[in-house]
Amino acid sequence: MLEAARLPTPLVDCTDEVLARAGVELRLKRDDLVHPLVPGNKWRKLGPNLELALREGHRRLLTFGGAYSTHLRAVALAARASGLSSVGLVRGEELARAPRNWSLRAAEEAGMELVFLSRAEYREAAGRGAEGAGGAGGGLGEAELRRRWGPCLVLPEGGSNALAARGAEAVVAELDGLGERDVVCCPVGTGGTLAGIAAGLPPGARALGVAVLRGGEGYLEGEVARLHREAYGREFGGWRIDHGHHGGGYGRVPAALEEFAAGFERRHGIALERRYVAKLLAAVHDLAGAGAFPPGTRLTAVVTGLPDPVVP
Ligand SMILES: *Cc1c(COP(=O)(O)O)cnc(C)c1O
Repeated sequence: MLEAARLPTPLVDCTDEVLARAGVELRLKRDDLVHPLVPGNKWRKLGPNLELALREGHRRLLTFGGAYSTHLRAVALAARASGLSSVGLVRGEELARAPRNWSLRAAEEAGMELVFLSRAEYREAAGRGAEGAGGAGGGLGEAELRRRWGPCLVLPEGGSNALAARGAEAVVAELDGLGERDVVCCPVGTGGTLAGIAAGLPPGARALGVAVLRGGEGYLEGEVARLHREAYGREFGGWRIDHGHHGGGYGRVPAALEEFAAGFERRHGIALERRYVAKLLAAVHDLAGAGAFPPGTRLTAVVTGLPDPVVP
């Protein structure tokens, strides 16, 4: 199994000038340090799914992802560490012929069998629309996936299912003394992390998710609510998703965001993952600067992952 490197993950104060001026405190929940190979929310979300796989005697995990999917790499490494095989359905048939990028190579080196699908085939298999296009559900269905790729436990694209939300909820249990002045913040890709955090909050505390993809209004809120129903049998209030800081879309890092991230890294001596974590922190600073949080607010930003490796 995947033993954590450290639990609880560290909580560090990170209030800087802009925030202090707004009367707002910022703490970082260093979930990026939870596991060296499967860091951040991928560890939180996969843990309960791996337990289920082993309990039910599965030998193989199947999941979906794009060319640089952190989830795909995480599943490959987690499967290997748990003695399971894995298969990854990858969006983009052209990638089959291209030299492997560092991310797919890492998944493959961890023993994952990669299957390259055209965008249409991928959509059919994974049951998701293009960025922000919505269209949850659907997909080939687990029976058909198993018929094609063998007996396996199927994990959705991005890994967000009811067990993943339960795993993400554990972050909140590591934060003592949350109350009325607290806002726990995280990036939102598929919404599983936010769903778990929102569900775990004590009364009065709130959660803020920052969408990193464009056009997710409505769709992402629906996903979080769906995960709440699936994992807890009810919906929760006290959370919202900011859609104004995606920087142009998934994976886009505009110059201003890069500049913010580099400045934050210099000031605090922590390396920021750009697609999610830097967007989250930039959003929080921007919102605080604009007076979105009442003075006295204590923000806790969950550092959900590590920067990509520098590839030569
Ligand atoms: C995958 C990922 C996310 C997205 O989490 P969701 O649960 O899909 O919303 C956030 N941050 C990092 C660093 C990630 O790798």
